[in-house]
Amino acid sequence: MSKLYKLSAKEVNTGIRSGEFTAEEYIIQILERIDKVNPKVNAVICIDRNGALEKARLVDRKIREDEKIGPLAGIAIGIKDNICTSGLKTTCASKMLEEYVPPYDATVVRRLKDDDAIIIGKLNLDEFAMGSSTEFSSFGPTSNPWNTDYVAGGSSGGSAASVAASECSVSLGSDTGGSIRCPASFCSVVGLKPTYGLVSRFGLIPYANSLEQIGPIGKTVSDVVMIMKTIAGADDNDQTVQVTYRTPDYTFSSNEKMRIGLVRELTEGAEPEISKRIYSAMDLFTNLDCKCEEISMNYVDYALASYYTIAMAEASSNLSRYDNIRYGFNFTPDGYEWNAYFAKVRSNFGDEVKRRIIVGTYVLSSAYYGKYYLKAQKIRTMLKQELRSLFKKYDILIAPTMPILPFKFGEKIDDPIKMFMIDIDTVIANLAGVPAITVPAGFSNDLPIGLQIMASEFQEQKLFNAALLFESNTNINRSPEL
Ligand code: GLN
Repeated sequence: MSKLYKLSAKEVNTGIRSGEFTAEEYIIQILERIDKVNPKVNAVICIDRNGALEKARLVDRKIREDEKIGPLAGIAIGIKDNICTSGLKTTCASKMLEEYVPPYDATVVRRLKDDDAIIIGKLNLDEFAMGSSTEFSSFGPTSNPWNTDYVAGGSSGGSAASVAASECSVSLGSDTGGSIRCPASFCSVVGLKPTYGLVSRFGLIPYANSLEQIGPIGKTVSDVVMIMKTIAGADDNDQTVQVTYRTPDYTFSSNEKMRIGLVRELTEGAEPEISKRIYSAMDLFTNLDCKCEEISMNYVDYALASYYTIAMAEASSNLSRYDNIRYGFNFTPDGYEWNAYFAKVRSNFGDEVKRRIIVGTYVLSSAYYGKYYLKAQKIRTMLKQELRSLFKKYDILIAPTMPILPFKFGEKIDDPIKMFMIDIDTVIANLAGVPAITVPAGFSNDLPIGLQIMASEFQEQKLFNAALLFESNTNINRSPEL
């Protein structure tokens, strides 16, 4: 059997349905692939061998017996380890949740299973999804499959690297301030942060609820769309889902004359090789009959400060629940006075998480609330309004996904500000709640560059049209040799 593990999700699905190969044959190859490359990449932190093989056999049986099968039949998918999987450890790459086995599936996971996808395991991330390089993981960092001396990006580093390294066909990540798009861009794959309120967050262990969404990562735009059809839509368990339909209906029409704005501040602020790529993407769209122009955004300079203030405030409140009583690791309170126990237990958080709890508590304290938290919210509203008026004139906005190329391990880990700065291009979509996708746009020094496309709320269709148009007119490698 040729290299089945390299196939896109769509190809896998077609191959299995047509009887070209079985789900079991494919999953065996995927598991062998993980065994071979994961020691180099460290993207998968928990492999569910038995579960995956069992599901593959079930899919094969359904096909053999002509039973109804789901639209994702046979596709190997990996899940970021901050999304709950019933009976399978969900650690957030934190010592705090080392032993946590959720008693339920996140809505997105349940839907994937119902549609006959095969969950191969859990994927690495920065602890509690806080970071941009996956270096803050208690499982050790994830390497970039294009060059293992470099970071894979974060926080969903495992989700992007596992897809690029062909350890699974598609994956789920979460994106609070760029965590799907940053690693997808660094690993030369496609990653989508959906509109806030399109995908259920039930079962996503929260970092900053008002900003984050679960979204797919895949090798192609159509793989990402395929997963969205399964995971998006109304959910009784998450009242922040704003749509009433269960399955979105995406149909492609890539030749409409799109109006495109290139965000000057974000593009000019990037490394020269990166901004060059984004300008040539604009030229490409122009040649394809789109109406492109450069535009300016006023509030870009304040976006990062606003994002980190809000994100840390929400994190400090979310993380207060970890007292190791309800869930956690093996350590009994016997013999401890409560405060001593609480302090001891919470020292299990990593330094980055601790820093955020402390800063978040500070910006919410009564003396500083107005000065920081409230101000950050005001900026968020202004940014939202600015984008709203821009989207009256433009169907989509384009910019780099990341202002820099993937960097070497250790380069930014000691300087939080340096690490925060690289999120400048991605946090805007989270603050405004709009959808954003990254698609591979080329390489510089053999390291990937991503093009980011943003659209107005619930206009995923426009994102997909533009992303597909770009993808089908470029030919950028998504499969590194490993
Ligand atoms: N790097 C950003 C942060 O650390 C984004 C993380 C995320 O999207 N989960 O907050």
